[in-house]
Amino acid sequence: GDGVTADDVDKLSIHFPLCMKSLHSALKRDSHLKHMARIQFGLFLKGIGLSLDEALIYWRKSFNRMTDEEFQKKGYAYNIRYNYGMEGKRTNYTPYSCVKIIQSMPSSNESHGCPFRYFSPDALGEMMQNMNVDQVSINDIQLKAREGHYQIACTALFEATRGKAHEQAQQLAEPIGHPNQYFDYSLNGIK
Ligand code: SF4
Repeated sequence: GDGVTADDVDKLSIHFPLCMKSLHSALKRDSHLKHMARIQFGLFLKGIGLSLDEALIYWRKSFNRMTDEEFQKKGYAYNIRYNYGMEGKRTNYTPYSCVKIIQSMPSSNESHGCPFRYFSPDALGEMMQNMNVDQVSINDIQLKAREGHYQIACTALFEATRGKAHEQAQQLAEPIGHPNQYFDYSLNGIK
């Protein structure tokens, strides 16, 4: 969708897949995200329709423990413009797919990647409990994640939460392949 503003991001977060919910929470908690996390989350936000101007507002507002000068000097604004193809190689970067995100393993102080791969079963369970997922679904999703079926686990979480919200066929024909696809299905229903 077009015309998403910085102020819309919080209320749209209900439609984020777990990887992006996790980054959104980490950003709120720490008022900061590390480089890889900023790229993963920034390109996702671009994909949901956040313009460059609104992205600059959103990130500036979120990094609320630093001055404007630090925000500029440390290259944060530059990196955002870069994601939008306005700096460096001027490539119009597209949001990362699940495969690309799953391949990228965060170190202990980073928060990018796919939670179905790198969260402990307990941490995963806690996140889903906070989303009011029923225990049967939680057990099932934890098992799928443990078996390495991350996208299938993600699809099951979609079906147990957002699929139900749309009161329509809860089964997706194919597993979720892209975080922006998850967002679109959650916002608009499965087509
Ligand atoms: Fe994100 Fe894809 Fe992992 Fe789901 S399967 S949490 S959309 S990377």
